[in-house]
Amino acid sequence: MSSRDGTGAGARGRPEGAHPPVIVAGAGPVGLTAALALARARVPCTVLEAEDARGAAYFRSTGSKAICFQRDILDVFDRLGAGRSVIAEGTTWTTARTYYKGREVRTVTFPAGAGGGEGLLPPWINISQARVEEELLAAATAHPGIDLRFGHRVVGIAQDGEPDGDGAGAWSGGGGDGLLVEAETPGGTVRMRASHLVGADGPRSAVRTLTGVPFPGDSFGDRFLICDIRADLPFPNERRFHFDPEWNPGRQVLVHQCPDSTWRIDWQVPDGYDLEAERRSGALDERIRKIVGDGDYTLVWSSVYRFHERCAERMRVGRVLLAGDAAHLYAPFGARGLNSGVQDAENLAWKIACALRAPDPAAADALLETYHSERWAAARENLRVTGDTMRFLVPHTEEDRRRRREVLERALEDPRAGDRIDSGKLAEPFRYADSPLTTPAGPVPPQARPEAPAPGDICPDALCTPADAAKGPRVRLRSLFGPGFTVIAHKEADAAAAARECTGLPADVAPLALERVDTSGAAADALGHPQGTVFAVRPDAHLCAVLPPGTPPGRVRSAIERACGARAPARRGR
Ligand SMILES: Cc1cc2nc3c(=O)[nH]c(=O)nc-3n(C[C@H](O)[C@H](O)[C@H](O)COP(=O)(O)OP(=O)(O)OC[C@H]3O[C@@H](n4cnc5c(N)ncnc54)[C@H](O)[C@@H]3O)c2cc1C
Repeated sequence: MSSRDGTGAGARGRPEGAHPPVIVAGAGPVGLTAALALARARVPCTVLEAEDARGAAYFRSTGSKAICFQRDILDVFDRLGAGRSVIAEGTTWTTARTYYKGREVRTVTFPAGAGGGEGLLPPWINISQARVEEELLAAATAHPGIDLRFGHRVVGIAQDGEPDGDGAGAWSGGGGDGLLVEAETPGGTVRMRASHLVGADGPRSAVRTLTGVPFPGDSFGDRFLICDIRADLPFPNERRFHFDPEWNPGRQVLVHQCPDSTWRIDWQVPDGYDLEAERRSGALDERIRKIVGDGDYTLVWSSVYRFHERCAERMRVGRVLLAGDAAHLYAPFGARGLNSGVQDAENLAWKIACALRAPDPAAADALLETYHSERWAAARENLRVTGDTMRFLVPHTEEDRRRRREVLERALEDPRAGDRIDSGKLAEPFRYADSPLTTPAGPVPPQARPEAPAPGDICPDALCTPADAAKGPRVRLRSLFGPGFTVIAHKEADAAAAARECTGLPADVAPLALERVDTSGAAADALGHPQGTVFAVRPDAHLCAVLPPGTPPGRVRSAIERACGARAPARRGR
């Protein structure tokens, strides 16, 4: 097995194809991302989707749930070959404004990144979830390593050939050869062997139920109305959040621009709100006209939703991994549902690939267990953040109502008080600083920039100017990462030596020399540590080690060994 450019250290372990495929339950955005990430890591997989085949008509008729996609998620789509059209078509925005009774009280601007904005991914784009799913499906359909089967509803799971029904007790940790997955199809019931099962089958996950994993949390009664309307409007291309506007007094409204002159308007509506009654009476038109004025508009999609705040008690049970809405549900303000589900998918894919190649079953088991520990910590953080937001947006106690009023009133007088307004804290990648896979930081050299990335952070991106500029245009640093680990050093000799240390590990390790890929200094600037530092980057672009200049030989290898589960505490079963 060779690395991306043929110079890296090759992965060792079980031969390719010696195991049954990974089965992914659900061809939603998270299941498709998981399938593409597995295929990129050369792990064959089969996707079982309960619904019938999806063609263009399906995507045209499906309303959008998610619209806001964060930069690092676009980077994942780009890595997986599904990003180009999404990024080109999406509406870019960098500013989020919050208003109270019509007056601006808070403005947040997202930075472009090192090397300038052009060529880098935008901090956010808006595009419909349906369009993103269409691109993911096209990429998955075209990939020879992915077997997509529609009309296959997962209804049973057994470990090592045992019939299901034994409940939680049937599950063991990393032992045994695999799973048996049962699916209902129009032609009858089929059973398939799998090395692992990814439960990406949405909020009512059958996989979660079949594994007996509780899904505690709350479902809230507060109701929100979404209308996607198409109209030529002179609104700025920004996220605009209104508290108590005169056209929705006592409640809030969020306005976002999407491609094709489409606008997402999200109103908080009173208890007992009836969309159909409002549509029939003409009150919906009046409601929309209070925002869009007298011009023409088309209602593309409308829906009323309630929100849930829930998290599965475990995201890994033996060889079964839960991801996306099957594992967690958040209130949508902050755009954390799909964005974090994509990070689940990428996290689990490289770990399954590595576990399948690991010669040591204990390390493989320990690595898979870190899927739970890392992504569950991320889910708890997302629940905390979105829970705080919802307490501010829809307070349920007198104390929370008073606090909301005071914060908003004070912000009218004092711009600094605007920071206490919570209209949704927008998603950011979780930091794996406390993960057992992360080599803790040593003392930070005095030459490092104060905001330089630390182990566990996602590797910053930058626009690179290659040494041989004649070979092509500037490229993003992160687009140079291969499907395995990457070791980055300033000097070519250091990067090559670091990669050589890693021969025989269960993952590919490829060298990346800044002096070769970037003469502009933008990448070194973004990485922020002095020359001689070696950065070890996981396949999901998180830094697992930042080794200062003068680190003795062998430390890169032990950092990557650690990131492959060598020192992570194993936990069997539940
Ligand atoms: C109003 C609203 C706005 C939102 N806005 C955002 C946003 O801006 N940004 C963001 O990040 N998130 C947002 N979200 C959340 C986002 O829509 C979800 O997190 C996302 O759809 C989760 O994707 P998924 O693949 O996990 O699940 P799903 O999209 O539910 O897909 C699950 C798939 O599994 C299939 N399936 C179900 N059962 C089975 C079975 N037994 N066997 C096989 N297949 C099965 C289903 O048919 C489906 O195709 C929003 C949600 C709502 C409601």
